[in-house]
Amino acid sequence: MPPPALDAIVTHVCDECWELRDRLGGRPWHELDADTRNAVRWDLPLLSDDAKQHYLPIWLLGAVEEPRSDFTEALLFALDSDHRWEPRGGYSAAQQRVIARVLEALIDHVEQADESQLTGALDRWA
Ligand SMILES: [Zn+2]
Repeated sequence: MPPPALDAIVTHVCDECWELRDRLGGRPWHELDADTRNAVRWDLPLLSDDAKQHYLPIWLLGAVEEPRSDFTEALLFALDSDHRWEPRGGYSAAQQRVIARVLEALIDHVEQADESQLTGALDRWA
C-alpha cells in the first residue's frame, strides 16, 4: 500500500502537524531512517486515518523490538482509542491479526501503568 499524498498525512493545520507531515514527506514507512522514526514516535494520534494505517508498522516494530519504549506507550494509547482508525478500505483481516499478535506479545512486558490501555486495545483488536 503506497503512503498517502503529502496533503493527506495530517488533517489539522498547525506547526506541529506540518512538521510531522514534512518529516514523513510522503515517503513509505520502510524508507524512514531510525532518527526520523524516533522523532515522530509520539505523533501517532496526529496522523490522518489513511496515514495511520500506512505508518503504523513504525510503532508495531518499535514496540516489538523494544517493548519498554516510547513506541509501545504511544501505540497502546492510540490502539485503546477510537480516534482515526477508519482508513479508506478499512483494516484487512491480516492487518488486524498483526495488530492483535503484537498486543498479545506485549502482555508480559508492559509497565503496570499501561496495563489498562493494553487490555482496552486487546478488546478492540483481538
Ligand atoms: Zn495539529
